[in-house]
Amino acid sequence: MRVDHDMEFYGHVIDGEEVESHDGARFDDVDPWTQKPWSEVALASKRDVDKAVASARRAFDDGPWPRMGYTERGRILHRLAELVEQNKRELGLADTRDMGKPVAQSIGNDVGRSALNIGFFADHARLAAADALPMDSGHHAYTRYGPAGVVAAIAPWNFPLMLETWKVAPALAWGNTVVLKPAEDSPASATLLARLALEAGVPPGVLNVVHGYGPGSAGQALTESTAIDRITFTGASSTGRDIAEIAGANLVPVSLELGGKGANLVFADADLDKAVEWSIKAIFTNAGQVCLAGSRLYVQRDVYDEFLDRFTAAAEAMVVGDPSEPGTQLGPLASEAHFAKVRRYMETIEAEGGRIRTGGLGGGWVVHPTVITDMAQDAPHWREEIFGPVVVVAPFDSEAEAVAMANDTEYGLNAMVFTENLSRAHRVSAALRAGTVWVNCFFIRDLRAPFGGVGASGVGREGGDFSRDFFTEPKAVVMQIDQA
Ligand code: NAD
Repeated sequence: MRVDHDMEFYGHVIDGEEVESHDGARFDDVDPWTQKPWSEVALASKRDVDKAVASARRAFDDGPWPRMGYTERGRILHRLAELVEQNKRELGLADTRDMGKPVAQSIGNDVGRSALNIGFFADHARLAAADALPMDSGHHAYTRYGPAGVVAAIAPWNFPLMLETWKVAPALAWGNTVVLKPAEDSPASATLLARLALEAGVPPGVLNVVHGYGPGSAGQALTESTAIDRITFTGASSTGRDIAEIAGANLVPVSLELGGKGANLVFADADLDKAVEWSIKAIFTNAGQVCLAGSRLYVQRDVYDEFLDRFTAAAEAMVVGDPSEPGTQLGPLASEAHFAKVRRYMETIEAEGGRIRTGGLGGGWVVHPTVITDMAQDAPHWREEIFGPVVVVAPFDSEAEAVAMANDTEYGLNAMVFTENLSRAHRVSAALRAGTVWVNCFFIRDLRAPFGGVGASGVGREGGDFSRDFFTEPKAVVMQIDQA
């Protein structure tokens, strides 16, 4: 074990204390822009994970959090949301240094959305806490939404704080206790969040954080624990399959938010200014490291050339570089391993018959906004999630053909439709096999709406009442009302 006293350190947070691993093990947290470690992080083994789960178990079985009213829990969670807002810079910079997203995105957007997640679910739990069902038979039934227990939350690195709060906020609001394992490439903001939760008055043991890797490490130890009651996972589809197997064996309900290969359909009747602007955001935000990325772009033939010229020019105008600069729009990819994966796709474009309209590899772990045309529909670039700033484009002729091309994928997380024809917008939205369809926009969310995917994109939905149903154990109570 190596300890560098000049670097930042992020520990596990267990039972209200920030701690080292029992054996003192740590790992380096590498800044993908400098390609050098900027902090050290505690590396959990099974023993540390078991300690965190035991702490969450005690806090659930004997502690005040599940027994507190929704109002009191909501007050504490709103205080946490305020602290997240107040610490926007530190939290946002932690994500930027961890995984290279521009500060305009992390400080400028993600931290605010994280605070919104926390505030929203605090209010939602208070307002959606019970259903009353007067029955014709003279009985009275009602549903109690009691907390499920100990929640294992496992998060990816692409929107670290935002996706962690998307899980932690509803879990806490409904009275559960949590063990959060952030991704090994983006650990810092989770420890910061847990520190703020303690400051806000969340009792010790209610929000625990353990750091480490997936298979054979903290992630696997957490999902295999028999003392947990729910697993909420966001990450790759292959990991989702592994976790689902363990959850199945232990009969632990699991929510899986997995990969995507979003289709973006631009019809000839679209407002092309809007379509170009949103299509750029849909694939190049966060350097394309977005499960919802519009990585398959289909454009109606009548406007194909014009759209492609304008789209390519907009891609070339993006500011690529140091993510800590406020004007940067696209930073490096998150890690060396991820860059190597995207590079393999970049190096096989021509061999697969594709043509690079613009883009290519940059210095370090940077990939420039890349637009590919002329590629056969069965090439891996159309079918696999590249998870980088890389889009494949093809023309289509009819609406039916566009829908068929969009649905020709194992994924089904989301799709985008650009059209000014109202009937077409509704017709196509209904026909697309996806958890979310955006019409003339992208990435806009109402936290009450269901969020999740079809097929290899996931199992279950989260958001609003959908999160309530997952993070609680709904109980029916039926009372006889004696007639006078
Ligand atoms: P990943 O599956 O490699 O890792 C995600 C998390 O799971 C990490 O914390 C990792 O340590 C942990 N993990 C890995 N293997 C594990 C195992 N066997 N047991 C327990 N934990 C394990 O994914 P990633 O590379 O971090 O994230 C990118 C993926 O996430 C992409 O496929 C992306 O589309 C997907 N994603 C989906 C959504 C969504 O909402 N649907 C959102 C963001 C990202």
